[in-house]
Amino acid sequence: MKTLISEPEVNEAVCRMADEINGFYGDSPLTIVGVLTGSVVLLADLIRQMTMPLRVGVVQASSYRGATTRGPLVINSDLMPNIAKQDVLIVDDIFDTGHTMLELIDLMHKLAPISIRSAVLLQKTGQQQVELCPDFVGFEIPNEFVVGYGLDYQDQYRNLPYVAALESHDIGE
Ligand code: 5GP
Ligand code: MG
Repeated sequence: MKTLISEPEVNEAVCRMADEINGFYGDSPLTIVGVLTGSVVLLADLIRQMTMPLRVGVVQASSYRGATTRGPLVINSDLMPNIAKQDVLIVDDIFDTGHTMLELIDLMHKLAPISIRSAVLLQKTGQQQVELCPDFVGFEIPNEFVVGYGLDYQDQYRNLPYVAALESHDIGE
């Protein structure tokens, strides 16, 4: 495993994202929707630096089935807060192809929010397959499978305070 983004670099990027988000929304109330499970670390760090009145909810989306290859996307919105007439900011760990974010936005649009924007810690360069860009991005990274700061490999490594790329000998597939 090799460190791609160190702990101080991650922390600095989260501060920068929070500044951008605070500047963008000002004092308007905001509903944050974190995408489980990968967003939990970013969510916790980001909301503590946000200055507007805010509500926090979660939705679950999973497309990986215990490996580094994608499976069908499954969304569980049972825990989602009421977002009608709210400005919504979706927070996720990483924007790869963009299909997860697109499907979440499509689903939430039906619930009549005022606006929906998205914030992700990481975006993989050149992997995007949808006509949608995340609004707030911490880092662009190369197309490697990464773990840490919420991101897992087979449910491990979410607790690392930095982002690391798995190497072939880390992947027991
Ligand atoms: P997308 O739908 O944009 O292709 O993928 C987004 C989801 O896939 C993210 O929420 C994340 O859960 C997962 N994902 C994409 N790339 C990686 C990666 O490099 N590492 C990990 N751990 N998860 C990833
Ligand atoms: Mg995810």
